[in-house]
Amino acid sequence: MTSPLLSLQKLRREYPSGDGSTVVLHDIDLTINEGEFVAIVGASGSGKSTLMNILGLLDRPNAGTYRISGRETSSLDNDALSALRREHFGFIFQRYHLLGELSAAGNVEMPAIYAGRSRHERQERAGKLLDRLGLSDRKHHRPGQLSGGQQQRVSIARALMNDPDVILADEPTGALDKSSGDEVMRILDELHREGRTIIVVTHDANVAARAARIVEISDGRIISDSGTAGSSEEPKGRATAVHVSGRFRAGLDRLGEAFSMAMRALGAHRMRSFLTMLGIIIGIASVISVVALGTGTQKQVLENISSLGTNTLEIFPGSGFGDVRSEKVKTLVVGDADALRSLSYVAGVTPTVSTSTTARFGAIEANALVNGVGRDYFEVKGSKLVAGRVFDESGVSTLSQDAVIDENTAKALFGQSGVDPVGQVILAGSVPCRVIGVIASQQGGFGSNDNLSIYLPYTSVQTRFIGSTSLRSVTVRVNDSVDSQLAETAVTDFLTKRHGSRDFFILNTDDIRKTITSTTQTLTLLVAAIALISLIVGGIGVMNIMLVSVSERVGEIGVRMAVGARRQDILRQFLIEAGLVCLIGGVLGILLAFGFGLAFSALGSGFSLVFSMTPIVVAVVSSCAIGLIFGYLPARNASQLDPVVALS
Ligand code: ADP
Ligand code: MG
Repeated sequence: MTSPLLSLQKLRREYPSGDGSTVVLHDIDLTINEGEFVAIVGASGSGKSTLMNILGLLDRPNAGTYRISGRETSSLDNDALSALRREHFGFIFQRYHLLGELSAAGNVEMPAIYAGRSRHERQERAGKLLDRLGLSDRKHHRPGQLSGGQQQRVSIARALMNDPDVILADEPTGALDKSSGDEVMRILDELHREGRTIIVVTHDANVAARAARIVEISDGRIISDSGTAGSSEEPKGRATAVHVSGRFRAGLDRLGEAFSMAMRALGAHRMRSFLTMLGIIIGIASVISVVALGTGTQKQVLENISSLGTNTLEIFPGSGFGDVRSEKVKTLVVGDADALRSLSYVAGVTPTVSTSTTARFGAIEANALVNGVGRDYFEVKGSKLVAGRVFDESGVSTLSQDAVIDENTAKALFGQSGVDPVGQVILAGSVPCRVIGVIASQQGGFGSNDNLSIYLPYTSVQTRFIGSTSLRSVTVRVNDSVDSQLAETAVTDFLTKRHGSRDFFILNTDDIRKTITSTTQTLTLLVAAIALISLIVGGIGVMNIMLVSVSERVGEIGVRMAVGARRQDILRQFLIEAGLVCLIGGVLGILLAFGFGLAFSALGSGFSLVFSMTPIVVAVVSSCAIGLIFGYLPARNASQLDPVVALS
C-alpha cells in the first residue's frame, strides 16, 4: 500500500499564554489522500487556520508527526520546508495577499521565480493561467485596480503557478460577494476534477457542501469526519512537467527579482529613500571633495616648490636661518662652488650673492633685488627665458654688466613706455647695466612673487655692489639619478672637510617637498576620517529606515515565504535594497563633489579640487559596504520572520 498524501498523527499545537500555554490543536489524527476535496469547518477560533498552516508547512506542530507522502517533516530545516512548499502546495488566502507593487501577471509569476523556472516559461504560464481564469485583459493591472473577485482569481492563478498537488484555501470566499464566491468555488471544483487535492477552510455551509468530505473542528479537536468515502479511488495522474532552468540561471533570476523588488520598494517611497540617502550623499561628497581639495592644494604647493628648482641643495653660511653671525661668516666662497662642481653627482653649481638696490630706467624707479649668479643659475633653477638671452661664462669672467631681468622688473620699468627691454640700459643703484634677456618671474614657495629681480654675474655683483668675495649661498643641482638625501650628506662631509668646521647649513628642496606632501596627506587623512564618521552616521540612518521598512512589509515577506521563498531570498532582497540606497547615495555624493569642484573653479577661489580615481572607487565600494553592513541586521530580521506570524 502506498502512503497517503498527507497524514497527521497525534498532532498538537500550543501557544504560550500567561504562565502556562493554550493548546489550540489537541492530538489531531487526520489522513488526506491524493485527489480528495476536503472542507474543514468549525466555529471561529476553533483552530482551522492553525491546522491549515501546519498542513501547508507554514507552521510547525509542538508534538506529533506530519508526513507528506510518507516523509516525516519535523526534522526538516527551513530551506527544505520552503522547497516542499514550492513543490506541493498552492495557497489561497481570505484576503488574497497579493503584492500591491506588482501587476497581476507579476504576482502570478512570483512562485516560479523562487522555483527557478525560466523567464520565458514563467511569462507564458502566467499568461495562460490568467487567460483560463478570465483575466486576459487584466494582466497588467495592479491589485488595487481589481475587484475582490478578480484579486482572488489572481491569487488562484498564483497558487497554480508551480502546478501544486495540493491547494490550501483558507476561507477563500470569506471576503467575496455571493457570485464571486460561487465563481471561486466553481474553479476549485474544476481543479479538483483535474486531479488536484483541495483543502478548503470555511464556515459557510454552502461552500462546505461542495466538498466530498467534511471535517469539523471544535476547540482544537476533530469532532466529526465524513470520511474518505466518495473520493476518487484512483487519482488521475496529472502531467507535471516542470522545467527548472539551470542553477546558475535560476540564481540569477532570483537575484534579478530581488533587485527589481528593491528598486520598486525604493520607487514606492521616493522621498523617504532620498532622505535616507542624504547621510550617505553628504558623507561621500565630503570625503571626495576633502581628498580632492587636499590633492589640489598639494599639487599647487609642489608646483611652486619645483619652480624653486628640482632636486637642488641650497648651501647657506651660518648654522641656520636667523643665525645672527651668518652675516659675518665669510667662509662660503667661489672656490667652494668650483670644488663642488667637480663632484660626480653634481649636475650644476651656481654661487649667489644678492643685495637690494634701486633700479632706474629713465624717470621710473623701483626697488629691486640684485642677484649675482653663475651662468648655470638659470639652468639649475629651471628658469624660463621670455626674451633675449642669458649671460655665459665669459660674462662671469669679464665682470660684465649684462643683466637679465625678470618679468616683474620688465613690467615695472618698461611697462608704461612699452619699450622692448632687451638692449636698453638701466641703472641698478649707480651701476649701468645693459638688459640682455628677460626671464619669467620665479614663484615664491607659496603663491606668487612680486619681487623685482635683476640677475648679473656674481663676479660683477661682488666687485661693483658688495665689495666682498663671500657668497650669500651656493645652489647645487644634484644629478637626477642621485638621491638628494645621500647627496646632502656627501656635500656636508665634503664642505666640512674643506672648511675644517661646519659653518654652513643646507636647504634641501626635496626635504621641503616631502614635508609638505606628508603634512597635506596627514591633514587630508584627518578630515577624511571626520567625513567617514558622517558616513557611519548615514549608515545608521539607513539601518533605521530599513528596520521600519521591514516591519511595514511583514505581510509581503509572509506571502513570499508562503509561495516558496527561501530565507536567503528574503535576506538578499533587503540587503540589496539597503545596498542600493547606499550605492545611489554614493553616486549622488560623487556627483555633488564634482559639482563642488566646478563651483570652486567657477568662483576662481584659488582652491583647486583635483579628483582622482582612487577616492571615487573607494567611495563607491565603501558606500556599498555600508549598505550591506548596516542593512544586514534589518535584512536578517526580515528573513527570520515566522511565515505564519508574517501572514497574520
Ligand atoms: P480559526 O481559523 O478556526 O478561526 P485559528 O486557528 O486562527 O482559528 O486560532 C485558533 C486559536 O488559536 C484561537 O483561539 C487563537 O486565539 C489562537 N491563536 C492563533 N494564533 C495564535 C498565536 N500566534 N498566539 C497565540 N494564540 C494564537
Ligand atoms: Mg481562520
